[in-house]
Formats: sequence, C-alpha cells, structure tokens
Amino acid sequence: MKIEVRGLAKQYGQVLAVSGVSFDVKEGELLGLLGPSGSGKTTVLRLIAGLETPSGGDIFIDGKRVNDLSVQERNIGFVFQHYALFKHMTVFDNIAFGLKIKKWGTKDIEERVTDLLRLMSLEGLHARYPHQLSGGQRQRVAIARALAPKPSVLLLDEPFGAVDAKVRQELREWLIRLHDNLNVTSLFVTHDQEEAMEVSGRIIVFSKGKLEQAGTPAEVYEEPATEFVARFIGAMNIVEGEVRKGTVGIGSLQFPAPGFPEGSRLQVGFRPYYVKVSEDPRRYRQSARLRHIYFLGVAYRLEIETEEGILLRSRMNKEEFRQYRFEVGQQVSYAVTQFRFLPQEGKQLPPTGPPHEPAAGPLTP
Ligand code: ADP
Ligand code: MG
Repeated sequence: MKIEVRGLAKQYGQVLAVSGVSFDVKEGELLGLLGPSGSGKTTVLRLIAGLETPSGGDIFIDGKRVNDLSVQERNIGFVFQHYALFKHMTVFDNIAFGLKIKKWGTKDIEERVTDLLRLMSLEGLHARYPHQLSGGQRQRVAIARALAPKPSVLLLDEPFGAVDAKVRQELREWLIRLHDNLNVTSLFVTHDQEEAMEVSGRIIVFSKGKLEQAGTPAEVYEEPATEFVARFIGAMNIVEGEVRKGTVGIGSLQFPAPGFPEGSRLQVGFRPYYVKVSEDPRRYRQSARLRHIYFLGVAYRLEIETEEGILLRSRMNKEEFRQYRFEVGQQVSYAVTQFRFLPQEGKQLPPTGPPHEPAAGPLTP
C-alpha cells in the first residue's frame, strides 16, 4: 500500500525535529530515508507508525488519512535498531508474538511461523533463544517478527546498524531479495549513504528535519540539488568564486556561468572522477602538484594542489592509473570535465535570466 506524507511536522518542546516534510512511498516500493544522526529520520518513522502524534501535517496509507488511528489499526510492521528481540522467548515465540496478540489460532500461527522461518533461512532455529543466535540471524528474526502479521507497510530503522560490516553487507543483499519476493511497501532508514544507494530504488535525503532531495540513487549522486546532498553523498570537490563576465574563475580554473548575475558568488561542485590528471604537462590546460596517492582497492584517489593552493581530489580506476607513473610531489596537468553549481545551504541559486541555462555542463580542457 502506498504511503503519502504531507507537510509533516513534529516539535518536541523547543526542538523542531521534523518540519514541512512531504513525500510518497509508492505501492510495493523500497524507499530509502537517508540523513545524518539527529536529522529526524526516526521521528518520521515513529510518526508513520503512530508511536508519535504529529504537530502538523497528514499521513495517508492507501489513500486513507491515518493521523487519528492507533498503532494497531495502522497495520504496520517495524524493525527498530533498539527494538531488540524478547530475550526470554524462543525464535518461534518471538515471531509468533504479534499473531498471538491478534488472536490467531494455534494452527495458523504454526503455519505462518514455519513459512517465515523458511523465507528468512532460519529453519531449524525455532527453539533457540536470541543469545544463541548470530547478529545477522537476530536481525532476520526481528524482520520475521515484523512481517508475521502481514503488515501493509514495513518500516526499518537502521536495522543493520549493530552488526559488523561483512554481515551488514549480507543482510543488505538478503533484504533486497526479500523485498523482491514480497513487494511489501517499505521505508528503510539509514545514515549510511552507500547502504541507502545499494538497498533502495529511490532515496529521500534528510537534513535538520527537512527533506533536501528525493530521487533515484543515480539522481541524488549525479545531480545533487543542494550543497548538503553534494557533501553528504559521496566525495565532492567544492570550490567557490564570483561571476565575472559570465564565468566563475577560481585561479586558472574557469567555469562558464552564462545567465548568472555579475558579481554573484557561486559554489562549484565536481566529483573526483571528473578531475582528470596526467603526468604529461601538456595533456591538460591546468597545472598542479601531486600531493598524495591513496590506494582504495578498486581505484586510486589522487590529491592534487592547484597553483592557487586549492586541494582537489581525483579518482581513477586501476587500469587508468597503471597508464601513468605518478610520483608524489611531481608536477601534473589536470582538467575538470564536468561540474555543477550548488546553492549554498538554505539558499537558492541566483536567478538566471531567460532563456534558462543548464546549471551543469562540460568544460573542455
Ligand atoms: P535521527 O533518527 O535522524 O537520528 P531523530 O528523529 O531521532 O533523528 O531526532 C531528531 C531530533 O529530534 C533530534 O534533535 C533529537 O534530539 C530530537 N528528539 C527526538 N526524539 C525526541 C524526544 N522524544 N524528545 C525530545 N527531543 C527528541
Ligand atoms: Mg534514528
């Protein structure tokens, strides 16, 4: 079932935890909610679940306004990071818990729990207690427990936060497969941008209780709408300069800015892989000094210092890196092949006169 959130707000005393938030979770979608700690993610989930009352705005599930419905009436399954399993109950009883509350018959409960144990690859573990399970198994039991009463919506609040990196990776892949099988409308909260991009078909990015951007992982990565999103999702070089004769110049780097008012200050963002570097001084127009080479396993990151003393990050894959013989300290040439103008926090880009010019474009070396 689809979820519609409209103008949602939550105030705790002086703290405005969530304000003016609107988004949709489409029927059957796995939507990622990404933001740093304290940005209001948990509050949004608790509002949708009915564990908190909004200070403003509306929540619709399947077209029906649910603001005044109780937690039970909303039929939502949730897995919260700190909502641990019942320690004194077996795996079976943990998963059966919600069904007993709903007064399911013994035979139906047994059937449902058996199905879920199979679905979650937990066969044979029904009699174990939580302390006899691995972290990954425990999280799968928590998800099974949430799914048992056949919720119309599944909310997951940083469900893999407490397990180690390798298990977390397995759980992500496993969650994606589970969602492909069940197609239950799901909202997945994380503060980890890689996790959000990997797990979700679409992401909404939060900062300070507000929605910064909604889009596919590729959209928020390639076309960040704000400085916050650009900095939060992946590495980004950000430089700032003033518009002079339709160009933002930062030393020898020139970024065409047609249509922007003369004298306005603009931030220019470009991903490290749009910074091309060569040891041949004539290959690209700009020159810099190579400061550091970082080996990242799948790629290399180069840190270069421009003639103006600005540090820029470049990234290249191994094959490309092997074509060169880079040495730290040497002079290199470089070019920025793509960039975007980014509005500063809380601001809009200055108005560009008609006809509207795209805010991003290639820069020829
Ligand atoms: P996140 O899940 O993104 O880390 P939260 O939704 O937990 O963020 O918190 C958002 C903001 O609201 C924070 O500033 C937090 O301190 C505040 N907050 C959350 N819950 C409460 C509460 N019950 N009482 C007072 N402030 C709260
Ligand atoms: Mg939280």
